[in-house]
Amino acid sequence: MEMAPGVHRISEVTGSNVCLLAGEQMTLIDTGIQGNGEAIVSYIKSIGRTPSDLKYILLTHFHHDHSGSALELHEMTGAQIVTHKDEVEVGPDHKPMLRKGNEADSGRAPWWVSLLMGGRRRDGLVPHTTPVHMQIDHNDVIPSLGGLKILYTPGHTPGSISPYLEKEKVLFLGDSVLNNVDRLSRPMMYDRKRRMQLDASLKTLRGLEAEAASFGHGPPLKGDVMTKVRALTDRPYDLSTWRIVLKNWRTLRAFRASTKRRGHWSGAQDE
Ligand SMILES: [Zn+2]
Ligand SMILES: [Zn+2]
Repeated sequence: MEMAPGVHRISEVTGSNVCLLAGEQMTLIDTGIQGNGEAIVSYIKSIGRTPSDLKYILLTHFHHDHSGSALELHEMTGAQIVTHKDEVEVGPDHKPMLRKGNEADSGRAPWWVSLLMGGRRRDGLVPHTTPVHMQIDHNDVIPSLGGLKILYTPGHTPGSISPYLEKEKVLFLGDSVLNNVDRLSRPMMYDRKRRMQLDASLKTLRGLEAEAASFGHGPPLKGDVMTKVRALTDRPYDLSTWRIVLKNWRTLRAFRASTKRRGHWSGAQDE
């Protein structure tokens, strides 16, 4: 499905949303969990392109529901795996690789939340080694469609980015913002410092002129994007952690059940 000219959303995947920028040099934004390689390659073929047209596999952040198929896609297409430099660590062979962690690594749940939810949350996704071929930073531009500008928006993870197609006015928010039915919200984060960092990041996006947005999970948004982003940043994320947990109790339980059952989460919550 084309959400803007040249911007495709590939729906036949599991895990995060996956977008393909079908310019002369194609870029994929996120890959979902492992095992999506075939589906993504057949989508590329279905729009009359060849797998080797894919030049960049851009990851909005390291979480495995976004990066799980990066390595297999690199092997199938030869595309370079690209992410922010703060999502990278040095591998055992001294080569750069994607940070390891688990799906919930935006801050470990405090002991009392784990206790209330009936023990430690299990993560269905197995961390694996993903090489990083190109490290990017704020304001770098990837030559795709009219130019994909990298906006550094840390908080959800240390190196989270929000790539922005300036000419097409499409913003990719990764997991920094979730699209709920009636409004946007921020991801569940237990660490107050990170909540503040995310808020500061989102404020830097207020001046954009985006007319469409894609999120790590949930449906895309068209039209009123910036009004909603500004409204979100008008509500500071400074509730105490227990209030956030209380407000999201049902969602947290659903999250736990969903990651246990399917190994990934595809819902939203309200902060
Ligand atoms: Zn995430
Ligand atoms: Zn995610």
